[in-house]
Amino acid sequence: MAQLQRLAIAPFQFRDGQIILTVEQQHYLLRVLRLRKGDRFIAIDARGQWWLAQLEDASSAQIKEPIDAKTELPVEVTLIVALPKGSGFDEVVRQTTELGVTMIVPALSQRTLIKPSPQKLARWQRIATEAAEQSERQIVPVILEPVPFSTILSSLSQEVSQEANMQFICVARGESNHLLTCLQEKKLANIDGKKNIKIIIATGPEGGWTPAEIEHARAARFQPVSLGRRILRAVTAPVVAMSLIAAVWESNNFIETF
Ligand code: SAH
Repeated sequence: MAQLQRLAIAPFQFRDGQIILTVEQQHYLLRVLRLRKGDRFIAIDARGQWWLAQLEDASSAQIKEPIDAKTELPVEVTLIVALPKGSGFDEVVRQTTELGVTMIVPALSQRTLIKPSPQKLARWQRIATEAAEQSERQIVPVILEPVPFSTILSSLSQEVSQEANMQFICVARGESNHLLTCLQEKKLANIDGKKNIKIIIATGPEGGWTPAEIEHARAARFQPVSLGRRILRAVTAPVVAMSLIAAVWESNNFIETF
């Protein structure tokens, strides 16, 4: 099982067993994920079928075989998690992998200043691999190198304009809508399942986000959301957020109760 990133591919991009990549996809695969010729990723077609694809050159990929995605969530979830102190991140990686996360971005925020050693990244990747195997997933989530939160926001704001993304920032205290309500609305808006949904959700460190970080996130079109009235620990919040996302997309019956 490998760390494979997913990519939604439109029907016109499939040609004779090949995928012709758009400029945005090329940027994403080569610059953001740093894939090289011969590296593999998952292509998702308009019917939701997954395919193993291999990068041929900068602008095309070859389709290798279909993938049975039965234990994967129908939505792609990127978690941006401000690094907690100590080894708390190990548990975040393990538990959110079990819950179906697609990508984890460890963030350095204004109130987390410790930069972890490179060995930490290898350790988190190992933990993600074990957890993915344990929970019988088809892919191992990708874990990126730790980056400043502000850098993540600046790079995202350019890319997302192309997508029907949902972006949330979890904010303890305050009057934000509950994440569950926001997710249910979004799910209803896409009830025909035609769009490949990508969710990006950020959780803060022990000391919380600074007001400036929340403002910056809002400017990058992140919607502030609540996870309930109690203050959760930095390591609990990502797990709760992932559980809500998985529950909304894997249960079908909430629609009737609306
Ligand atoms: N020390 C801060 C709380 C930090 S909790 C304070 O006293 O305000 C760590 C992170 O978990 C927060 O930045 C937020 O992203 C998330 N979080 C915790 N509880 C939450 C809640 N009830 N709703 C939304 N996010 C929450």
